[in-house]
Amino acid sequence: MIEFSHAYKVYPGTAAPIHALKDINLKIEKGEFVFLTGPSGAGKTTLFRLLSAYDRPTSGRVCVSGFDLNELKPKQVPFFRRHLGVVYQDFRLLKQRTIFENVALPLEVRREKSRYIKLRVEDVLEQMRLSHKRDEFPSQLSGGEQQRVAIARALVHHPNVLLADEPTGNLDPELSRDIIAIFDKINAQGTTVFIATHDHELVRSRACRTIEIQGGAIV
Ligand code: ADP
Ligand code: MG
Repeated sequence: MIEFSHAYKVYPGTAAPIHALKDINLKIEKGEFVFLTGPSGAGKTTLFRLLSAYDRPTSGRVCVSGFDLNELKPKQVPFFRRHLGVVYQDFRLLKQRTIFENVALPLEVRREKSRYIKLRVEDVLEQMRLSHKRDEFPSQLSGGEQQRVAIARALVHHPNVLLADEPTGNLDPELSRDIIAIFDKINAQGTTVFIATHDHELVRSRACRTIEIQGGAIV
């Protein structure tokens, strides 16, 4: 489902090149639930950027859901991303769209019927305890609420793979547990879940495979 082989990522940097990822080799099977841990600056977000085809490895291979991302042509990228749900560390909500419209986006891209979109988005907003915010705009929400909108948008279309970069970074412990329970539920329905976090509490809360990265290398 996810495979890195000898993947490296080097950023140019101002003074010297930054070796953000060094010889990453890992395999995640379909249906797994995996944490990626490591301190700030370890390379977690860089690894997720490669997985979601926002960036390419400087060398080595990255494969996701049957796609070799090095071979992916620009016009195939949107098609590839339909199989993914991504919670970005900085949320990336669309400011001009309401909460409902933000969450509906992945379903509109797939040209789902508007009746289904309405039911499905309302259901996911309720799960995230956001029903009362449906007609507001992202700027009217707290950081924690925006994070829950980002999570709702990532799972609304039942993706094959859910990537979440620090999905509980702005949430209090009780809400973090709720979010993990929701990830568990979608994992039980067959979605592969891969979560980057530096929150040790979160990792302790659920026994599962944990990959640790430090200084760009898996330890
Ligand atoms: P993490 O998500 O684990 O905190 P990142 O992947 O964001 O770590 O960063 C890993 C390293 O790469 C850091 O040293 C960071 O400063 C550097 N880095 C990240 N993005 C860029 C970029 N766009 N340009 C240059 N350096 C970057
Ligand atoms: Mg990060």
